[in-house]
Amino acid sequence: MIGELINVGTEILIGDIVNTNAQYISKELSNIGFSIYYHTTVGDNPNRLKETLENSINRSDVVILTGGLGPTQDDLTKEILAEILGVELVLDQEIYDEITERIYKSGYSQVTQNNYKQAYIPKGASPIPNSNGTAPGILAEMDNKSIILLPGPPREMIPMFEQKVLPYLMKKTDTKFYSNYYKITSIGESAVEDRLLDLIDKQKNPTIATYAKPGEVLIRVTANGESREEVESLLQNYDVVIKERFGQNIYAFEDLSLQEAVGKSLVEKNVTISIAESCTAGQIASRLSEFPGISQSLHSGIVCYSNEAKVRFVGVQQKTLDEYGAVSEEVAREMLQGLYEKNKTDIVVATTGIAGPGGGSEDKPVGTVYIGILYKGQYTVTRHQFRGDRKRIQLWASNEALNKIRK
Ligand code: ATP
Ligand code: MG
Repeated sequence: MIGELINVGTEILIGDIVNTNAQYISKELSNIGFSIYYHTTVGDNPNRLKETLENSINRSDVVILTGGLGPTQDDLTKEILAEILGVELVLDQEIYDEITERIYKSGYSQVTQNNYKQAYIPKGASPIPNSNGTAPGILAEMDNKSIILLPGPPREMIPMFEQKVLPYLMKKTDTKFYSNYYKITSIGESAVEDRLLDLIDKQKNPTIATYAKPGEVLIRVTANGESREEVESLLQNYDVVIKERFGQNIYAFEDLSLQEAVGKSLVEKNVTISIAESCTAGQIASRLSEFPGISQSLHSGIVCYSNEAKVRFVGVQQKTLDEYGAVSEEVAREMLQGLYEKNKTDIVVATTGIAGPGGGSEDKPVGTVYIGILYKGQYTVTRHQFRGDRKRIQLWASNEALNKIRK
């Protein structure tokens, strides 16, 4: 199978952005046995794009394009594809409804004509859902060849590639491919890679890839073979090793966000939770609220940022604050106790820490965070030392708390 790439965008041609999409997709294609003969970068110009795409379709089995799928006038990829296929663009009702819903949800009262441009796809092609943006991808087939259009922004493109394109391409090759997924939290991507280096280094079959979102890493292990049994035994060997190396840091075996995994497990276990947040300032509650149906479990979240609020809203004693300081195990413990007395939820969570950049001291430097959990009468308060800027410290603190809730 011959695959090739076209990356659309004047920004790439003039050196404003680096073409990371080409690297990512090429690597994925070669992992599953495709030969890649050409990469082309072309600007947002209809004639040159058409010429390029026609050439590519002639010489390759699969052509993947990224970029130029957005709502604006210079986004032309889809229109050119329709022209080459000799079909018109037709409205896809499902995408139309999704776009409308997304736009109304985000508070706009009017959907512009531009927005709806994205709901049109070449007749006979199928849309590839985009959960991180409005432009769907497109999959078209013509004379046994596949043409796949994906949006330019990597954070939209990569999940679409992972979830839809890769499984589709794996089916096209003769070999059987299967993948296992592991979602990891509380370890950064480079540390995850480090722990897998020996496996990544000798990788041929299975292959291992890691993808990072802030605070979460996805590991994908893909194996191939003649039969399902053969592939599964290859995956099984790695499964043991990965579980051994990452243990409790694996929070899901599918591509879920940490908050979705935790939200889901709370609702499934039918337990209630309330949260008192100082340094994370509502982030834990807010992230949990991303899981639909969480109202069954999420009782309340209190942001008690100041000392006064810690006393007034969660019953921390002034003398504890004076004696140990707000960022202390004792205060975290009282936050748990106070909140439990008010709410009587099954789980109570508290955070108190120093997000920086100021406010650190020798024994409690910036990044010191206490995370407390009260569950079935058992108090657990742990001290953590996170690194990085304010935003990163808050994110890692809320990750760590979510991970503790999950356990
Ligand atoms: P949008 O809806 O954002 O306009 P689009 O599909 O039209 O998406 P482009 O307008 O071509 O995509 O690119 C949008 C942004 O995506 C670019 O500014 C750049 O940040 C990123 N991007 C595009 N192509 C690539 C690429 N090949 N590699 C890395 N990043 C890219
Ligand atoms: Mg664009």
